[in-house]
Amino acid sequence: MDVYGLLGNPVEHSLSPPMHEAAYDAREIDARYVTFEPTEDALKTAINGAAALDISGVNVTIPFKQTALEHTNPDDIAREVGAVNTIEFLDGEMPRGYNTDFAGVKRAFRHHNITTDGCDAVVVGAGGAGRAAAFALADAGADVHISNRTVERAKTVAADIGKRATAGGLETRDLISDADILLNATSVGMEPDSNKTPVPQSYLHGGLVVLDAVYTPIETRLLREAAEVGATTIDGAWMLLYQGVVAFEIWTGQDAPIQSMNTALRAELAEM
Ligand code: NAP
Repeated sequence: MDVYGLLGNPVEHSLSPPMHEAAYDAREIDARYVTFEPTEDALKTAINGAAALDISGVNVTIPFKQTALEHTNPDDIAREVGAVNTIEFLDGEMPRGYNTDFAGVKRAFRHHNITTDGCDAVVVGAGGAGRAAAFALADAGADVHISNRTVERAKTVAADIGKRATAGGLETRDLISDADILLNATSVGMEPDSNKTPVPQSYLHGGLVVLDAVYTPIETRLLREAAEVGATTIDGAWMLLYQGVVAFEIWTGQDAPIQSMNTALRAELAEM
């Protein structure tokens, strides 16, 4: 039996085990996906230990995504984004680090037939998710503006992206009024504060595509208010799904059974 895993802290309520195990079942792969909670100090030992134990692959989540960069050989995207969330173990080599949040954002838009090339996108939030999302949208041809409560953080992301990326404080969210794409990558609106929204409804309009990275609740206040004004909405489970899909494809070399993974993920979210 193959073993895959997740390194994070906490990981108790992770949705990755049911999502990945649904994929193994659908592809008749004899494997299990288990969670581990190492301390920050033990992360390097945990990664090398997983390799030594012949674990087939691991995901990395909060708070280890940045530190994991130092303990792997990151590909160009993970290095640029500055975070690793998927590790592949290769015989006799340093573990390979990937950032599938980056590809997850792109594939979530593609799944909904949204073309990002040439679009104006506003990313609200400049933490881990915001950084991956802003890099992904810029790589997919969008002109990206990052609005963040801590303006310096937004400026760092924009400077690292280069191209035409711009940055500002939360007051620059008014750019959403003329944008094609809005991606919320703050934690605002997440349970138990689901009555909050990261963006005033007055900035939302019918020409906008809104992806909310928050997935608890699955229909956030932002998505509800966006739908009310006729915007196209994409919930955070799509981004979560596709980062898992890309990890599965890296580890197994097979196409992921997307439908099975999506069904398992949404069943789990419905229970929360
Ligand atoms: P993070 O690194 O801690 O960043 C949090 C972000 O939220 C920062 O930009 C922070 O601004 C902002 N923020 C927090 N409270 C705020 C408030 N009251 N007003 C305005 N901005 C506020 O977290 P993360 O890992 O990027 O995660 C952010 C959200 O995305 C979470 O809800 C997480 O569950 C979700 N997420 C979803 C996926 C997915 O696959 N769907 C993947 C990753 C994360 P400052 O910089 O000013 O602190």
